Amino acid sequence: GLSTESLQAFGEKHVTRGLGRITEGVVAQGRGSYVDFHDGRHMLDFTSGIGVTNLGHCHPKVSKAAADQCMNIVHAQCGTAFHEPYLQLIERLLPLMPHPSLNSFFFWNSGSEAIECAIKMARIATGRPNIISMQGGYHGRTFGAMAVTRSKTIYSEGVAPLMPGTFSIPFPYWHQFGASSTISESELTAKSLYQLEILLAQQTAPRDTAALIIEPVLGEGGYVPAPNVFLQGLREICDKHGILLIIDEVQSGFCRTGTWFAIEPSGVQPDILVSAKGLANGFPLSAIISRKDITDLLKPGSMGGTYAGNAVSCAAAVAVADAMKEENILDNVKERSKQIFAELNNLKDDPEVAPYILDVRGRGLMVAIEFVSSASAGSKYDVVASETENVGLAGRVAKKCIEKGMLILTTSMYEVVRFIPPLNISEEEMAEGCRIFAEAVREVVK
Ligand code: PMP
Repeated sequence: GLSTESLQAFGEKHVTRGLGRITEGVVAQGRGSYVDFHDGRHMLDFTSGIGVTNLGHCHPKVSKAAADQCMNIVHAQCGTAFHEPYLQLIERLLPLMPHPSLNSFFFWNSGSEAIECAIKMARIATGRPNIISMQGGYHGRTFGAMAVTRSKTIYSEGVAPLMPGTFSIPFPYWHQFGASSTISESELTAKSLYQLEILLAQQTAPRDTAALIIEPVLGEGGYVPAPNVFLQGLREICDKHGILLIIDEVQSGFCRTGTWFAIEPSGVQPDILVSAKGLANGFPLSAIISRKDITDLLKPGSMGGTYAGNAVSCAAAVAVADAMKEENILDNVKERSKQIFAELNNLKDDPEVAPYILDVRGRGLMVAIEFVSSASAGSKYDVVASETENVGLAGRVAKKCIEKGMLILTTSMYEVVRFIPPLNISEEEMAEGCRIFAEAVREVVK
């Protein structure tokens, strides 16, 4: 075989430049909360493959379910006939839905594809063209998903025209209004809802508006939980105008935030719910879940896809749902969430570090720390618009963590480091991650 060094060089020469990477090196294997590299590095994984391996790498029950399914049937094409893992998965998911009306399922491979599907369904069901999304929102890289993505221009730069008929309002996150971090949630909520009211009056009439799409916890755009009153306000306005509410739980769903779905605490009933990532712990699978009266409007054959709802992915997802319950994952999320918040708030209260930290926020194990924007970025609007590499404090801290043996990510364009550890992470592993992070912060700001 090739040596590690030549593998790296080979990759740099032949893998598209369009992919960014947070570290050099070649992954050899992953187990639980750790990833091993060919060069001998044993790294604590606080990225979970961007919120995917929520039960850790190679969870035995999930891997075994997938392996067993591989010996049975791998590709039972969903347009040929039902297959058993598909139906078993629906049986597992039905009781977990945030509302019993969500009882009609369609499985795809990726989050982006699922978003495309949700948009199509909303247009068909309402007979209306336009979609409203959140400024700061991220929904994927295919054309429709890109058109409703408003977190950073890099995803669509140079490839327009995108899907037409998209509009946006600012997510209730202070940066979206050029406000300071001390602005209250209720003020932000009022500002965002006002923007929706005037959007519907000035730009896209309700009778032209099919759906509004939102992540209940803003992901790539900064890890900001939407206030419950904001989500309730959206529901009210959507109901008033017959606009469908699409809840994108690709990143926030499946126990990540301490409930099965992040929308639960708001009590809001989604018209269409989109899930992916953690659903199958690394096997490609997404789900579009809706009311039967909506999906009954779809003509047979209008939806589909060669690999959609792959049997191995569905079998893995059944095992994920079972393991989440058997291992009391929601309890662990609550305990480890308390632990990480205590550690991060301690760090924030440290007088040497305090001047650099704006905010510690999140829900469950979808947690972020926001640093002040670095003066070196030099923007009068307090925004770091870096391309692939964060040049400010968050980027420097993340780089330092990686040097110290922990994989960690920033979010889109603000000075935010995001923590997405496995949901079954142990107390010791969490303590190790928090220790590495605190050391990295202290070294960067000193
Ligand atoms: N929606 C959200 C909220 C996401 O976080 C992502 C992926 N980061 C997507 C959609 C797109 O999913 P995928 O990358 O699987 O296409």
